[in-house]
Amino acid sequence: MKFPSEPFKIKVVEPIKHTTREERERLLCESGYNLFHVPADSVYVDLLTDSGTSAMSDNQWAGMMLGDESYAGSKNFFHFEQVVRSIFGYRCVIPTHQGRMAENLLFSTVVKPGMVVPNNIHFDTTRANVEHQRAEALDLVIKEAYDPQCELPFKGNMDLAKLEAAINRVGRERIPLVLITITNNSGGGQPVSMDNIRQTRALLTRYRIPLFFDACRFAENCYFIKEREPGYAETSVRDIARELFNYGDGCTMSAKKDGLVNIGGFLGLNNEQWAQDLTNMLILVEGFPTYGGLAGRDLEAMARGLEEVLHEDYLSFRIGQVRYLGELLDAAGVPIVKPVGGHAVYLNAKAFLSHLPPAEFPAQALAVALYRDYGIRGVEMVTVMFGKKDPASGRTIHPELELVRLAIPRRVYTNMQITYVAESIIELYRQRETIRGLRMTYEAPVLRHFTARFEELRKS
Ligand SMILES: *Cc1c(COP(=O)(O)O)cnc(C)c1O
Repeated sequence: MKFPSEPFKIKVVEPIKHTTREERERLLCESGYNLFHVPADSVYVDLLTDSGTSAMSDNQWAGMMLGDESYAGSKNFFHFEQVVRSIFGYRCVIPTHQGRMAENLLFSTVVKPGMVVPNNIHFDTTRANVEHQRAEALDLVIKEAYDPQCELPFKGNMDLAKLEAAINRVGRERIPLVLITITNNSGGGQPVSMDNIRQTRALLTRYRIPLFFDACRFAENCYFIKEREPGYAETSVRDIARELFNYGDGCTMSAKKDGLVNIGGFLGLNNEQWAQDLTNMLILVEGFPTYGGLAGRDLEAMARGLEEVLHEDYLSFRIGQVRYLGELLDAAGVPIVKPVGGHAVYLNAKAFLSHLPPAEFPAQALAVALYRDYGIRGVEMVTVMFGKKDPASGRTIHPELELVRLAIPRRVYTNMQITYVAESIIELYRQRETIRGLRMTYEAPVLRHFTARFEELRKS
């Protein structure tokens, strides 16, 4: 294994503290065993999310000092617009404060009740925003995406047969657009191939349906294309991105991921009528079109981050560090989702805690144990986060996959800290029978993972 050595050195440090097991036990109890409610300064390695957690470069911080905070026509906006046009190629650039606002603006403008929006897999905010318009969010990823052991290079691909069947079933007039999420976050950060995107484009052209990208991790996706897809080894990631976005009509973006900033997002698109409607809505809910809910300095940091994220030494470290964690775990027999995706390693909690029945929330129990014993915070995925209810009985339907996501913030943790994470999980795996199940004691009607509360079950 080639060691993914850091392509940067550290200029500013943020101390993190070690807590005791007793403190963490108390915090868990107070938070209802929900790690979203544990104070972040009581976490040693925080792998809750890779969103908004990136470390900015000296170049980005320098840009922050060049913020032009004019209400209208800030020079940072023009720089930002020029960078987005040069990478993504879309004429109309609409800044938003984060990704879900881009989704909200787009869907509230073009999605009407009763419509259907296909995607490979909708991310939770994307699904919630589609459903908020009383439309249906369809997940049409290839079936292998649901098999945690199936090692395909592009497990995020759209299933074209399913997509065409869906178009024929609902009719093209009820599909305002199709989305492709790159990389496929909810499916494990798995990439989508250029070939699949090209074919999706061709199919949608036949039906005259626009194609949009949920582009949060576009640079990571493009790096995988370079690594894995025949014909791209010699193409720069930047050129790969240009080709990829050229197959689409627009994108929504959370710059909190591959924008390498702590806050920010945007919409890029070519349809000027849509852009005008979106901008009118933007003015109502976010702000003037040249700042869109952000400060001038944020726009500057985002413009610089979008350039930096395409640096190939950065991407090779980034993807390499995530893969390194996956390989350490896999070599020790810890069940993970394979292949390892771009931004996170997913523990297969069903296999890890095979002694716990699904009704006892094995993934949540595993995330709790990892925090209690090692101060590491990951996040439960699937049952609590996306779990559906049986409308008749009101009972939680427990899906196939039970995962704990360990999302790796960009440029934040050293490889030594990542090694600590791997060694902790391997130790926990050796004593997995001691981990107890949970019972849910409170849940909210929407996005319940943020507020759910649990109780620990006694040993049977
Ligand atoms: C994070 C994310 C979003 C939402 O972006 P926010 O900035 O968190 O609002 C949408 N889609 C995907 C795939 C994401 O990862």
